[in-house]
Amino acid sequence: MAADDKLKEYRSKRDLRKTPEPSGGNQKHGQKPIFVIQKHDARNLHYDFRLEIDGALASWAVPKGPSTDPSDKRLAIHVEDHPLDYAAFEGVIPEGMYGAGTVLVWDRGTYRNIMEEKDDPLTMYESIEAGHVEVWLEGEKLRGGFALVKMKGREDNQWLLVKMKDKEADARRNPISTEPHSVLSGASLDEIREHIKEEEEGSS
Ligand code: MN
Repeated sequence: MAADDKLKEYRSKRDLRKTPEPSGGNQKHGQKPIFVIQKHDARNLHYDFRLEIDGALASWAVPKGPSTDPSDKRLAIHVEDHPLDYAAFEGVIPEGMYGAGTVLVWDRGTYRNIMEEKDDPLTMYESIEAGHVEVWLEGEKLRGGFALVKMKGREDNQWLLVKMKDKEADARRNPISTEPHSVLSGASLDEIREHIKEEEEGSS
């Protein structure tokens, strides 16, 4: 699917003249696909887990955020694809807009499709269709294998995000609480809100 078609739902939910979020016009990328996890303080705080696939970001909203403990399965709601340049978005989505609230880039890096290395290799697109994604993350906070598994007999968009058992698994780490800040700016959600407020006051 062309990146532009994939972003129809994304664009239909937003008034891109009124929100600082990207429109998805800019689809440049390097060789390795990227992943990003955005901490999003909307009506409910959640973590948006996004994987670059064919020029867009496949996305899951994870209410509790990712865990480095393989026995800790986290609910992940599959949501609409986002534009690739959304990966760098940090800021405040205005009141009344879709997803209103503060967004912080909690982790980012590149990833590898583990399913592509199996005897029956699957592309990322095919893995999502099959309801079973396995990726190896090379992030600043998260590393190693993570699986996204679609839940059977549940609503169509409900998946689980699970740390795979490998050398990067660690039941004692809890990066959601011990490393809460942005990997882009080092800022907290409050500091991003304050910063935007100061900018607005400065320009009015
Ligand atoms: Mn979100």
